[in-house]
Amino acid sequence: MTERYDAIIVGAGIIGSAIGYQLAKCGWRTLNVDKLATSGQGSTSNSLAIVRTHYSTLEGSALAWEGYHCWDTWPDYVGFNHANNMARFIRTGALVIKTEGNNKLSKQISLSQELKIPFEEWSSLEIGEHFPLWDLCGYGPPIMSDNDQFGHPTAPMIYGGVFFPKAGYCTDPRLATQNIQRATELSGGTFRFKSEVSVIRKSNNRVLGITLSDGTRIDSPIIVNAGGPYSRKLNELAGIEQSHKITTRAIRHESLYLKLPSPYEGYADSTITYDSDVGSYIRPDRDGSVFVGSQGTSFDDHSSVDPDSYDQNISSNGGEPIYRLAQRIPTLGIPNHIQGIVGLWDITEDWIPIYDRSDLDGFYLAIGTSGNQFKTAPVVGELMTRLILACENGHSHDTDPLEFILARTGSVIKLDFFSRNRCVNSNSSFSVLA
Ligand SMILES: Cc1cc2nc3c(=O)[nH]c(=O)nc-3n(C[C@H](O)[C@H](O)[C@H](O)COP(=O)(O)OP(=O)(O)OC[C@H]3O[C@@H](n4cnc5c(N)ncnc54)[C@H](O)[C@@H]3O)c2cc1C
Repeated sequence: MTERYDAIIVGAGIIGSAIGYQLAKCGWRTLNVDKLATSGQGSTSNSLAIVRTHYSTLEGSALAWEGYHCWDTWPDYVGFNHANNMARFIRTGALVIKTEGNNKLSKQISLSQELKIPFEEWSSLEIGEHFPLWDLCGYGPPIMSDNDQFGHPTAPMIYGGVFFPKAGYCTDPRLATQNIQRATELSGGTFRFKSEVSVIRKSNNRVLGITLSDGTRIDSPIIVNAGGPYSRKLNELAGIEQSHKITTRAIRHESLYLKLPSPYEGYADSTITYDSDVGSYIRPDRDGSVFVGSQGTSFDDHSSVDPDSYDQNISSNGGEPIYRLAQRIPTLGIPNHIQGIVGLWDITEDWIPIYDRSDLDGFYLAIGTSGNQFKTAPVVGELMTRLILACENGHSHDTDPLEFILARTGSVIKLDFFSRNRCVNSNSSFSVLA
């Protein structure tokens, strides 16, 4: 007999798992299907899992702020607390450096005020007090290290920065996804691994179900594309890749792993920093090591790649974010061997995700997470559940966009912000900061 579910979610990354969880909590028989062996093993496993609230749009910040509250009370979100087997949230705060390019963070400051997100403005001298080893000259805008001007200050002092105390990171993004998987199963949902979806079956513009590569057929009137960097391929399977304005594609991102010299106090080893002046970010890890990455420079490589065959080695320019950071922290030290993680981002034209229905009835989209939606995933599960329930009850979301109440923080956002047919959002930073 053909198996049948109320909803099939293709993908058991952090996004798909959170959607499965929230639908299962509503009493739906759900199936998360993934070609990998465990949940959270796809691009989620490479995530730096930073939880920060400074986005360029109200909706982006509001969703991230709501997400913060989920991570901060993780056992409450998943509904259990198995002491040794829980992802942990480490609150570090995040310091963002003001530049001309980010308009001295005026937008992020006013959005934070509007959403009541705590922040502190720090002068460059105050930054120097917190990070005594920092060189506080301006070096921006970022340039490549082979440029003659590299390492020469462009301003005697940075403008200062904004410190957001309510920010941090999740220690283990894969374990967090597995926590959600467990929560889903406790709510009656099912996961199936090592199972590749090769056909999306449909009839009269309505999904019927999926067929796996081994020929197994599983039926459902609802299928959610939560395929991460494979989102475009799944849209092709559904035959809808040409049907909406905003599209998705996979690109590489390199996060470099750096062991700090000892003693490392003052190197910002315990604070997340987004240094827009040099164009590098730091995310602390354990025992005096950090992840360093490029936070969006004009020379970052954003070429599309095939998620089934991309170069998983650090590129020849891979050290650039560390060289740039060494301008700020001259005693940092440059490692002889650059190590790190190469992950995939599933980006859209404006680096804002698509959370929407599609033109194929019963086929929903939770895609284009653009390197910045780990933090929001617990809320995306709730958002997509609201959307799916409303659409399946006959609501015309395309003509009368739904509103979504962020229950923990009290904001209300309109979901056409995430529409597949929106105009490219000119308020975006057009980078991973969104
Ligand atoms: C290097 C890196 C750093 C990041 N840092 C941050 C950060 O600091 N903060 C933040 O908020 N976000 C960050 N992100 C982004 C965040 O991690 C992603 O937005 C999020 O993990 C995407 O989750 P997902 O579930 O959509 O995708 P995935 O985790 O990729 O899950 C998709 C799943 O779908 C499965 N799948 C695809 N096609 C099929 C098929 N045909 N059949 C069966 N299964 C299929 C895949 O196997 C995969 O497991 C980062 C991402 C990367 C890569």
